[in-house]
Amino acid sequence: MDLSDKLASERRGRLAAERTLEQMKSELYAANQNLSVHARHLSYEIASTQEQVVTARTEADELKAQYDRAQQNLATAESAITIAERRLWDSLETIRDGFAVFGPDDILIAANQAYLAIFDGLEMVRPGIHMAELLALLSEEGIVDTGGGKVRDWQQKMLDRLSTHRIETAVLKIWNGTYIKLIDRRTRDGDLVTLALNITDQIEREEQLKEASEKAEAANRAKSAFLANMSHEIRTPMNGIIGMAELLGETRMDDEQKSFIDTIRTSGEALLVIINDVLDYSKIEADKIVLKAAPFDLERCIHDVVTLLTPSADQKGIQIAVDYDLFMPTSYVGDAGRLRQVLTNLVGNAIKFTEKGHVAIRVVGLPIEDEGPYRVHVTIEDTGIGIPMEKLGDVFREFHQVENEKDRTHDGTGLGLAISRRLVALMEGEIWADSEEGKGSVFGFHVTLPVVAEVEAKDVTAPPWMDRALVLDREGMNRSIILKQLSLMGLKSPKLGTLAEMIALRPGPNDLIFVGADVDENAQSVADVLSSQFHPAAIVLLADGLGRRVEGFSSILQRPVMRADLNKCLRNIVMPEVQPVETGELAAVKTAPTTPNPAATPQSAISSIYPESVNTPDTPLNVEKMPQMPTRRASQPEPASEEAILDAGFDATEPEFDLIDQSPTSSSDALRQMRVLVAEDNKTNRFVLEKMVKSLNIDLTFAENGLEAVDHYQWQQPDV
Ligand code: ATP
Ligand code: MG
Repeated sequence: MDLSDKLASERRGRLAAERTLEQMKSELYAANQNLSVHARHLSYEIASTQEQVVTARTEADELKAQYDRAQQNLATAESAITIAERRLWDSLETIRDGFAVFGPDDILIAANQAYLAIFDGLEMVRPGIHMAELLALLSEEGIVDTGGGKVRDWQQKMLDRLSTHRIETAVLKIWNGTYIKLIDRRTRDGDLVTLALNITDQIEREEQLKEASEKAEAANRAKSAFLANMSHEIRTPMNGIIGMAELLGETRMDDEQKSFIDTIRTSGEALLVIINDVLDYSKIEADKIVLKAAPFDLERCIHDVVTLLTPSADQKGIQIAVDYDLFMPTSYVGDAGRLRQVLTNLVGNAIKFTEKGHVAIRVVGLPIEDEGPYRVHVTIEDTGIGIPMEKLGDVFREFHQVENEKDRTHDGTGLGLAISRRLVALMEGEIWADSEEGKGSVFGFHVTLPVVAEVEAKDVTAPPWMDRALVLDREGMNRSIILKQLSLMGLKSPKLGTLAEMIALRPGPNDLIFVGADVDENAQSVADVLSSQFHPAAIVLLADGLGRRVEGFSSILQRPVMRADLNKCLRNIVMPEVQPVETGELAAVKTAPTTPNPAATPQSAISSIYPESVNTPDTPLNVEKMPQMPTRRASQPEPASEEAILDAGFDATEPEFDLIDQSPTSSSDALRQMRVLVAEDNKTNRFVLEKMVKSLNIDLTFAENGLEAVDHYQWQQPDV
């Protein structure tokens, strides 16, 4: 190799080395660059770490300060709690009543001294003891009065009490006469907090109060009993005065003397009414009235009252109507006498305070539950003077009357409604009134009565062959009611105004005709016309009183008509055989009364109303023979107490009566004198009665006391 080659190769080598150096330089530069970036980075990181360290240090300082403060607060809180707890217990210790807390497991946590004192210093009574042990100590150590039962039972009862959701309070009587009332409540956590209140003073006061009120009630009863006895004693001589005045009135006297004696009699009667009211009221006040429970017929009871009050309604021209729900039973168990008394006052008031229009008695009812007792609602509606709104609330109070003393035009003591209210309350019912001054009043009450017999369909359905019921009667409540009843019983009952309208309907053998006694002034001629020209199944007279002679009727119904009578009347009518009606001769056949269908003459219907009436309907009814008073069923003698005999009138002591539905008496019976037994201890009354019945042909016996009465009753078998 020559030198140039060597030089060339060296230059190449140098160039290569220079290139390598260059490259390494640039790599170094790059590395340097990286290093400086990294170094910068690092220095940033160091700076931030340094910052964090400072922050952390500050935070640590803060936390430490907080911790110190918390420690301090805790200490303060702890001391506050201790103070609060001490205060609480100090307070609990100062109260006279016991306080204790039990855990959810009924173990005593804490109790105040008053609570512990109940246990009379027993050492084992302290926190940790179980409630069951406490109860055992109380009962077995004789600390509480367990009421004479087994102590175990008492303990169990007291424990059971604590397991209920709302724990009932309990009163314990402690051996030393103290009364403790326990009030227990569970907290949300199940703890049991107990308060044991000392209620000895309260109990003592209650006992004193009870004693005082019993004494006051006894005094009130004694006063009422005194009044009741006095009224009773006054009543007896009053009967003597009135009776004698009546007898004297029948002797020969001049007009002036007659007016004197009339005044004595009417004043005596008025006084007697007042005395009877006072007697009843004081009897109720003295708790002397005990209601009787016996089967009775409510509809009959109402009709009895209507019969009693009809004369006073008639005097004023007021119609009394009874609307007894057709589908409601009539026989119930209750005190008929007392119900009648309530009804008599309400209906009596309605008549007394009404000058024109009507008085309507409505009876409806529903069973309280299936086959249960009935809630019977009775309302008495009148078209009278009414009661001002502001006075309505007072009328049931004793001696409250709407008219004031000065301008009284109606008599009465103002006790009737007070008595009625008390009687209805005794029957556990309610009485109410509604009224509009000048228009009328409605008084109503409801009572709950067990039913004796339900209504049967046959009692409220007309025989199927009957078609129409043609009622010719004066307009009014009674006509509307009978029309309603007949149509409910299944009969077509068109409204009729005149006889001409009735004739236009051409009554036939499937029709019934009802004629009001006062229609066209002469019901009888109406009946004559109808019976001679048509062949209705029956012509029934709707009569108001018993004092009328009636002919040509197949049956008579007393107004207001009782359901049982109406039903009996329909059932007794036989469908007549059809006889051809000769048309065109209507005007000519106005003849004497005839009975077109003897077979259809329901004599039994008549006799059911007038039991002793004669047998053929053609014969005039003998009004003298018609019984005015119901007769006692001889087969059911009811021993009457002396009190009962003296308590005449509508009183609970009055026995239930039935109309006898029997065949005419035998001739031998008819010939003997009627045997009348009178039990009366008052000599004057015996004398009065003897004089009063002097003209009657009766066999009169007096018994002076109850024993004698029973004795006479047995051997004499009186009719009355
Ligand atoms: P007693 O009933 O003692 O003979 P009374 O009828 O006056 O007397 P209550 O029956 O208690 O007494 O009635 C009290 C008062 O209520 C009556 O005086 C009357 O003012 C008023 N009153 C009662 N019923 C009616 C009525 N249907 N219409 C108008 N006012 C009536
Ligand atoms: Mg009255």
